[in-house]
Amino acid sequence: MVNEIRVKSILNRHRKRDDWFLDDYSVNPYSGCSFNCIYCYIRGSKYGENMAKTLSVKINAPELLEKQLARRAKKREYGIIALSSATEPYMQIEEKLGLTRRLLEIILKYRFPVHILTKSKLVLRDLDILKEIDKNAILPADLQPDLKHGAIISFSISTLDEKLAKILEPGAPEPIERLETMKECKEAGFLTGVCFIPVLPFLSDSEEEVDELIKTAKEYGADFCLAGALTLYGDRAADCKTLYYKFLEKHYPDLVPGYKSLYRTFFAPSKGYQKELESKSRRLCDEHELKNGII
Ligand code: SF4
Repeated sequence: MVNEIRVKSILNRHRKRDDWFLDDYSVNPYSGCSFNCIYCYIRGSKYGENMAKTLSVKINAPELLEKQLARRAKKREYGIIALSSATEPYMQIEEKLGLTRRLLEIILKYRFPVHILTKSKLVLRDLDILKEIDKNAILPADLQPDLKHGAIISFSISTLDEKLAKILEPGAPEPIERLETMKECKEAGFLTGVCFIPVLPFLSDSEEEVDELIKTAKEYGADFCLAGALTLYGDRAADCKTLYYKFLEKHYPDLVPGYKSLYRTFFAPSKGYQKELESKSRRLCDEHELKNGII
């Protein structure tokens, strides 16, 4: 049984556009997520240890979005809406509820562009609406010279290793299913790509692993590949840092010292590691003729 909640706002405006995903706004139809990824940064917040159990539907999301977008459209404050930044818009429950679909209908009505961030093939159900958004959305003026699409569809992948993905992302579809879904989106004419996020230190970050992922993304039709390192937050029992270290201790105890020295007391790995990952992914994207940014 899923909880139903009413929220005060559904359209979040960012102070600054996200450099990677290009969104000025985000919309999260649900609170929590049944895909239950161990590394998920929203863990440790109010959702508690098992996000699937605290999954909630924002039942007043459509009426709020209608009001909030009408206001923004009147002032012509167009910007890309990330759907979603703190939940999965196409988890199993969406199949029955169709809440994301209703929100997309409103987004289409007000002609806002979207960036769908998902791990699920259920996005295919909504390609009809997304196609209309792709054609009719009004992009912010400064993006218009470089971006020719009103809808971007990205698929997050942290590893191509199915066994590892099953442990880390227990409720999510297999990586191969995400790639096959991306291929269908590409064939349908969408701007699409892979968010290789999070890249897992010592588990999916070697030259061979990054190369393989970028090469595979290209084969499955990606227009771009964004790569970003794992972040680990918090020290409480429900926080992703705690859960991730538990996972390491159980499955890869030899890696714990390496992680400790890479992260020390911070949530991100060392600056040197991040720079190296960035240059490696840029170089390999170039080699495979894949963009390492959306534009
Ligand atoms: S799919 Fe995304 S939102 Fe859901 S648990 Fe995984 S990382 Fe978090």
